[in-house]
Amino acid sequence: MVWAESVPRVWRERVKKYRLLGGKCLKCGSVVYPYRPACPYCGHEELQPLELSRRGRVINFTIIRHPPTGFVGKEPYVVAIVELEDGARVLAQLTDVKPEDVKIGLEVEAVFRKYREQASNGVIEYGIKFRPV
Ligand SMILES: [Zn+2]
Repeated sequence: MVWAESVPRVWRERVKKYRLLGGKCLKCGSVVYPYRPACPYCGHEELQPLELSRRGRVINFTIIRHPPTGFVGKEPYVVAIVELEDGARVLAQLTDVKPEDVKIGLEVEAVFRKYREQASNGVIEYGIKFRPV
């Protein structure tokens, strides 16, 4: 993968700084990603911003063979629920792995990757994906 060679410097700089910013509920202690103003578990409105671990494991996954508009041509790909070491659960694509090699309990780490390119204006969307450790 020569991804880092093919993107502008500004993006490489951004990747270095990229963090998984979640929040910890000050009432029930739940850790959530991404950060949000209210706890999805107890409704409490005080969450402390928390930089999350980039590592976790797959707790559930689906192989996408009929993707929605914008992802056509990328199939098959895997969307997984990853439980981070902090306990937060993240829904994201897996990368650098064949769908048939994915299994529950697979150890993964977060990476910053291209999601898709908007055909209309060429804007490239980036986000978190997970790859096997
Ligand atoms: Zn809570």
